[in-house]
Amino acid sequence: MEGAAGLEQRLAALRQSLPAGTGLLAVSKGQPAALVRQAVAAGQRSFGESRLQEAAAKQAALADLQPLDWHFIGRLQANKARGVLRHFATIHSLDSLSLARRLARIAGEEGLSPAVLCQVKLRSDPAKTGFTADELRACWAELAALDPLRAVGLMTIAPQGLEAPQRLALFRECAALAAELGLTELSMGMSGDWRQAAAAGSTWVRIGTALFGSRQPSA
Ligand SMILES: *Cc1c(COP(=O)(O)O)cnc(C)c1O
Repeated sequence: MEGAAGLEQRLAALRQSLPAGTGLLAVSKGQPAALVRQAVAAGQRSFGESRLQEAAAKQAALADLQPLDWHFIGRLQANKARGVLRHFATIHSLDSLSLARRLARIAGEEGLSPAVLCQVKLRSDPAKTGFTADELRACWAELAALDPLRAVGLMTIAPQGLEAPQRLALFRECAALAAELGLTELSMGMSGDWRQAAAAGSTWVRIGTALFGSRQPSA
């Protein structure tokens, strides 16, 4: 395994390259808790995870480092809603109105007020879930009023195979939709396209492999 110095350098280089308004979400899915610990030692506090069980185990292993800022970025199954709410203060992958209703009900029961970002799909992409722009507009009034959820932003994932200028255009569209809905948070950009996302106003780039190296395959 690579030493901590490499990770520390990559974190510093990324932070330096990001515009002032763009936060770095270190995507630690598929990475051991020890690597998260190294990132924390290098000043990183916000981490993204995609699977509840893996994240809960990691959070337990890192409990001495609290408070860390955990974001859920994976596909959220309805039966995992309560667990995800208990383990994450921010959810980037809200992809349906029915899930939003469920999250609001459970968050109310649990006394939580999570920040949520609606996942939008601005190009057809069979590999991804999410609202189309029109679907989100159609349910926006109800979704935005679903206390105690706090709908703060949009999240998008660019489909495979787009060139950099097409990605930039897609991210700008997402930014325009967020502005139309009065939302300030934009979760856009991964290891391969964070530059275009940052240029389009991303407030959270979600970076895994470019920081931590290749992942362990998911269980
Ligand atoms: C895994 C994942 C990332 C990180 O991807 P990298 O290419 O490793 O940077 C970002 N966003 C989501 C939604 C992910 O599932």
